[in-house]
Amino acid sequence: MKKIEHIGIAVKDLQAANELYAKLLQTESYKSEKVKSEGVGTSFFKTGESKIELLAATSEDSAVAKFLAKRGEGIHHIAFEVDDIKAEMKRLKAEGFELISKRPKKGADNKLVAFLHPKSANGVLVELCEEIKDGEEYIPIGDEVWEDL
Ligand code: ZN
Repeated sequence: MKKIEHIGIAVKDLQAANELYAKLLQTESYKSEKVKSEGVGTSFFKTGESKIELLAATSEDSAVAKFLAKRGEGIHHIAFEVDDIKAEMKRLKAEGFELISKRPKKGADNKLVAFLHPKSANGVLVELCEEIKDGEEYIPIGDEVWEDL
């Protein structure tokens, strides 16, 4: 794990939260993106070296919608930057952590992402993220590309 890449905050209204965080951090969001596969709209802020990701549900059966219904708005996950997501997933699985998905997925902000189940990390949803390097073509991830970990 190289560093905390960002902190994810679940919000009900992305537009309203964008305005609030722009005031709080005194900077505008530098990126907004929908991740269709996850049913979320995201918005990113930079403050110094750190990033905040706001997440709002775009579909009612998304994980974020369920989180909001159960726990309300608030800190949703902590994301750690890694060099090699697949190697980290293997390492953590061997250490007894429960991975939510077997393979990394394309997440927001040009990243490959994977999550650890909160029950294996003291109630915290942990995201691993690896930057997709410039010029590196994103390959859709399927069984043909990644063998099971
Ligand atoms: Zn995130």
